[in-house]
Amino acid sequence: MATNESVGIFSSASLAVEYVDSFLPENPLQEPFKNAWNYMLNNYTKFQIATWGSLIVHEALYFLFCLPGFLFQFIPYMRKHKIQKDKPETLENQWKCFKVLLFNHFCIQLPLICGTYYFTEYFNIPYDWERMPRWCMLLARCFGCAVIEDTWHYFLHRLLHHKRIYKYIHKIHHEFQAPFGMETEYAHPLETLILGTGFFIGIVLLCDHVILLWAWVTIRLIETIDVHSGYDIPLNPLNLIPFYAGSRHHDFHHMNFVGNYASTFTWWDRIFGTDSQFHAYYEKKKMGKKTE
Ligand SMILES: [Zn+2]
Ligand SMILES: [Zn+2]
Repeated sequence: MATNESVGIFSSASLAVEYVDSFLPENPLQEPFKNAWNYMLNNYTKFQIATWGSLIVHEALYFLFCLPGFLFQFIPYMRKHKIQKDKPETLENQWKCFKVLLFNHFCIQLPLICGTYYFTEYFNIPYDWERMPRWCMLLARCFGCAVIEDTWHYFLHRLLHHKRIYKYIHKIHHEFQAPFGMETEYAHPLETLILGTGFFIGIVLLCDHVILLWAWVTIRLIETIDVHSGYDIPLNPLNLIPFYAGSRHHDFHHMNFVGNYASTFTWWDRIFGTDSQFHAYYEKKKMGKKTE
């Protein structure tokens, strides 16, 4: 019964989206994207696309999204938007971080990425253009992945802060008290596996086309690099997303090693009161400004 109801809701939502979509102008990028996608399918095997394609997408996007934050340290105007102004980035820390990242990406993540092809084969995940979901459906599934990942991250991240295990695994991610974009995946290999699991649960439950893997990795990287950037940029469009945690939220976690355990949204920290110190800190700052 419940399944029938949810199928009904899903198909009505699809119809509503189809209806709204019929009024939107044609996407001028659709044709070139279709050609590029079909070129890829015609010239590479599924194994090459799933393995090397995923590796290239991850590496290219990771460093591309880290680039603005990296450049901000050389732009004096951006200094006023740095959250922990008393702890500027150092090239020494960034170089150290970069070396660990390369190890993590190629020795821990690459073997995991190699499983992508077998995953898509086992679950019959399509690669073809014809069965690629519409952008809005893709976005809805990515949102579902984000909610699942955020929930997993909140509880497992909080567990990693338990005083009996903190020093063995999660301490590495907290080496730099003022975070910077590249630090996003600077972590103990076990942490990469434990917290990374949250990324894959959504895929296992919601993947209906190989494009979802790349769309979800893109959204997850934008979000996690933004919250580690160390900068609170005005007019950041991500801050318009309801319940989006944002950079101040996670920056506070790195500054104090406590509270604000969620990765993307604020609701779990709100429900369990683990954001109270964060709110008290900014409340005090606001009061201080008023009395100045
Ligand atoms: Zn972090
Ligand atoms: Zn932590």
